[in-house]
Amino acid sequence: LLQLSAPLFLLGMMYREVKQALTNMERLFGLLDERQDVQDAPGARPLKASRPSVSFESVRFGYDPRRQILHDLSFEIPAGGTVAVVGHSGSGKSTLARLLYRFYDVDGGRIAIDGQDIRQLTQASLRGAIAIVPQDTVLFNDSIFYNIHYGRPDASPEEVEEAARAAHIHDFIDCLPDGYQTQVGERGLKLSGGEKQRVAIARAILKNPGILIFDEATSALDSQSERAIQAELERIQVGRTTLVIAHRLSTVMNADQILVMDRGRIVERGTHAALLASGGVYAQMWRLQQSEAEREEAQQAH
Ligand code: ATP
Repeated sequence: LLQLSAPLFLLGMMYREVKQALTNMERLFGLLDERQDVQDAPGARPLKASRPSVSFESVRFGYDPRRQILHDLSFEIPAGGTVAVVGHSGSGKSTLARLLYRFYDVDGGRIAIDGQDIRQLTQASLRGAIAIVPQDTVLFNDSIFYNIHYGRPDASPEEVEEAARAAHIHDFIDCLPDGYQTQVGERGLKLSGGEKQRVAIARAILKNPGILIFDEATSALDSQSERAIQAELERIQVGRTTLVIAHRLSTVMNADQILVMDRGRIVERGTHAALLASGGVYAQMWRLQQSEAEREEAQQAH
C-alpha cells in the first residue's frame, strides 16, 4: 500500500501545483469560473518570431453572443513598437489583451502575430511569447523568489536577482529579514500595489518575451511610485512589441500610436501630438486630466 500511495500522493501534489498555477493565471485577468477552454487546433504550429508584429484585423467579439463588445476593430503594432489604448471604463480595452492572450477566440476577423493567425498556433508558444504586467498582480502564497522565478522556471537564482534589480525591487527584498525566501501573498507579507507591480515587472523581465502587455493600475499609486514604474516600463519596452492599456494619459505620451476606444470601437488614432492638434475626444480627455492634476496640486500646496 505504501508503495502505491507515494506516487499517488506525488501525483496529487503535482496536480494541485498545476491547478494552482492555472488558477493564478486566470485570476490575473479576473476570469475565474467563466473561462471557456480554448484548445490547440489540430496541426497547430509553434510561433516562430523573435520580434513579432501584432495585428487585429476586423475583430468582432462578445463574451455573450447577444451582446457584442468589439465591433470590427483593426490596428497593428509593428515589431518592437508600442500602441497604447485609452477610453472610458468598459470601452473594451482589457478585452483586447484577453483576446491577444487567447483566453477567448474572436467571433469574426482575426488576430495575427507576424501574419500567423493565433488560432493556428500552439497555446504554449503563444503564451510563452507574451508577458503580462496586470493591473493587480495576484501573488502566490509562496516565497518572493518563487513569485519572480515563475516568469521563467528554468532561470538561475542569479537571473532572478538580476531581474529583481532591473525592476528596482532587489533592494527592498534584500532588506527583508528572510530576503528572497520571505513568504508573500494572502498568507504572508502583504506588498503594496507598487511593490506587487514591480514583482510582476521582474517576472516579465525574466520571461524576456517578444510581446509585452501592460495593464496599467487603476488604483492610484503615489506619483513618485507611478513615475518609477513608468520609467522601468519604458526600459523593458525597448525592442518589444508592446500593448499598453492606459488609465492615465501621462503613460501614453510616448506611444507610437494611441487608440481611443469608445463602446468597442476605435474612434480616434494617432500620436499624442497629432491627437491634441486634431482637437477631438483625446484632446478633451487630456484637458480634463490636466485640470484635475492642477486642482490636486493646488490642494496639496494648501
Ligand atoms: P476598465 O477601464 O474599467 O478596465 P475596459 O475598457 O478594460 O474597462 P473591458 O474589461 O474590456 O473594459 O470590458 C468591456 C465590456 O465587456 C464591459 O462592458 C464589461 O462589462 C464586459 N465584460 C468584461 N469581461 C466580461 C466577462 N468576462 N463576461 C461578460 N462581460 C464582460
